[in-house]
Amino acid sequence: MPRDLPLAPVSERAATLNARYRHHAAVAVLEHALRDPELGRVALVSSFGAESVVLLHMIAVKAPATPVLFIDTRMLFAETLDYQARVARDLGLRDVRTIRAGAAALAAHDLDGMLHQRDPDACCALRKSAPLEVALKGFDAWITGRKRFQAGSRAALDFFEPNGAHRLKVNPLAHWDRDDVADYITNNRLPRHPLVARGYPSIGCAPCTSPVAPGEDPRAGRWRGQAKQECGIHFIGGRAVRGPKEDT
Ligand code: SF4
Repeated sequence: MPRDLPLAPVSERAATLNARYRHHAAVAVLEHALRDPELGRVALVSSFGAESVVLLHMIAVKAPATPVLFIDTRMLFAETLDYQARVARDLGLRDVRTIRAGAAALAAHDLDGMLHQRDPDACCALRKSAPLEVALKGFDAWITGRKRFQAGSRAALDFFEPNGAHRLKVNPLAHWDRDDVADYITNNRLPRHPLVARGYPSIGCAPCTSPVAPGEDPRAGRWRGQAKQECGIHFIGGRAVRGPKEDT
């Protein structure tokens, strides 16, 4: 929603919104996020991964013209690219924006395409965080599909959280568990990412995602064998900073 008045400081707005929507369910939080003046201009950031179709469907039902930012790292599975095109078309999403690192940046920092092996944090910064930061410049808030159950680092995740100095992150599914996701997908007859049936409960870039065995943590296939669990780069005041921050 366009804003008429300057927005309050981001931490103040996050606290206000968390108090305001504390007892609301996911759909209500999303609905309000799309029109509450406290949020300003809002986009959904989606990986079109294993669980993404839930929020994509909610957005399609409530406000299909909402900008959807899809980060194509140029390292994604072919199945993800096919799924992205199909889901966007079938759900009637009207403003899906594919964002990528520029050719010059890739040539300068990852000429051989092997940066993910040498320095995965730098690779995520180059291929995900930097293009996302550029794409988010026109927005005051972005919606993510992150959930508390996904990782210990997300255990206290709120519906609204500050993201840098000026922007909010909105996590409408923060309190959902795996069964909530599965039920929503089943009840709404939504298509699953084809790799889920092949043992990938969490799907990122092809070189950094492997199948997960029964009983393993669902995110065990992400950066398997490395200490890295999250994107590892976030932005403070427009500058990339290394730290234990979540991916998208
Ligand atoms: S997930 Fe892997 S390939 Fe994708 S951007 Fe990060 S390090 Fe690079």
